[in-house]
Amino acid sequence: MYEFAVTPAVTNIRRRGVEICDVAPDSLGAEMDLESGDRIIKVNGRVVRDYLDFRFQTSGETDLVLEVRKKSGEDWEVELDRAEGEDFGLSFEQIVPRQCANECIFCFCNGNPADARPSLFIKDEDVRLSFLYGNYTTMTSITEDEMRRIVEQRLSPQYVSVHATDLDVRAYMLGVDKQRADISTKLARLLDAGIEVHAQVVLCPGINDKEILKKTIFDLAAEYPRITSVAIVPLGLTRYNTDARLTRVTPEFCREVIDQVTEIQKELHAKLGTNFALLGDEIYLRAGRRIPARSHYGDYPQIEDGVGMVRSFENEFTKLMRRLERESWTCSKQTSGTIFTGTLFAPVLKKMIDKFNARFGTKLIVESLENSYFGGDVSVAGLLTGQDLLNARERVAGEFVCIPKQMLKSDDSIMLDGMNVNEVSRALGQPVHAINLQELPALLQ
Ligand code: SF4
Repeated sequence: MYEFAVTPAVTNIRRRGVEICDVAPDSLGAEMDLESGDRIIKVNGRVVRDYLDFRFQTSGETDLVLEVRKKSGEDWEVELDRAEGEDFGLSFEQIVPRQCANECIFCFCNGNPADARPSLFIKDEDVRLSFLYGNYTTMTSITEDEMRRIVEQRLSPQYVSVHATDLDVRAYMLGVDKQRADISTKLARLLDAGIEVHAQVVLCPGINDKEILKKTIFDLAAEYPRITSVAIVPLGLTRYNTDARLTRVTPEFCREVIDQVTEIQKELHAKLGTNFALLGDEIYLRAGRRIPARSHYGDYPQIEDGVGMVRSFENEFTKLMRRLERESWTCSKQTSGTIFTGTLFAPVLKKMIDKFNARFGTKLIVESLENSYFGGDVSVAGLLTGQDLLNARERVAGEFVCIPKQMLKSDDSIMLDGMNVNEVSRALGQPVHAINLQELPALLQ
């Protein structure tokens, strides 16, 4: 059983080299007659597995020999001299993520509806994506080749899901044996090699909270500054998570966690000069407590994990208001519209938008959107869907609808349930704009 679980993680079917997707006109790549569909197999005799390899192996090199498998099947050897740092003008295929070999009890894949997009079932565990996008890995099935690559190519920082430093608890949470759960030697090797690590804990009531959490934080803090921070984010359960081992995160639980971690932060701050252990925004919002001040978060080391995102947004909003005031900005076109966002963030946003309305004479309304697609306690804006918007059609007021950009796929105007913005717009009878904060004034002008 165990081997079956591990096999997909270590077996990656892939073609040799990295495929070129686009060649900019008049670029070095175009001069070399490279085309979309060609694959670069080697650079100066060294194998290229993906665009990170290409970047690494060409970096600082001016005399290059590329081995290229042309789209036609021909093999070319291309010699070139380039000026230092000269861009090739090449775009490459995306990295195909390596899959994890765990069976985490809280895995988000278990919370998807059966008909969700296939991409939502990808259990990625890839040190390259960790470096590039801040995705977390558990390091339970990291290979020697990956370990060496992180060090050689300086794929730093790495984001590691630790969850608990108590091995029994970690193994239980990840659904692996203790030997595999124990990453202490691997972690030490990365840290000794100067790789920066950010840790994460998904906090599950009754499993890795209280004393286990305290031990985890202090064990990780003992490695500060080599381990830079630990983000503590709450377990999120959709209506499809029916695992009896999991308990929902309640407001009371969040208040207890804040009280416990605030004490630990004070102690760590006195010792290390940083709070080190940072709680996810959701914990404060669910608890009904104030989001900490800007200084609490340092340089927002794990903002993409929802740690400090609300504070950063509020600060950006304040700056935007000040800028508009300085510029004597006025709303000249559309004045009224409905802004939809997730249920947890809606009250926070409403306060900010009320100030905006009062100052600039707009009539923007903030409406919180229930997540009917995933259900459960899913309340973040990024997981809202087109159907959720249609369910709220009676609450649409004004001349347009705004939704957060995170509701869309990064490269397409499609939402998690497959609906696109135009479809929703037609169904609501209103233009729907997926925007970020900075785009709001332009929409109103
Ligand atoms: S939570 Fe992450 S590491 Fe765990 S099973 Fe799911 S994808 Fe794998």
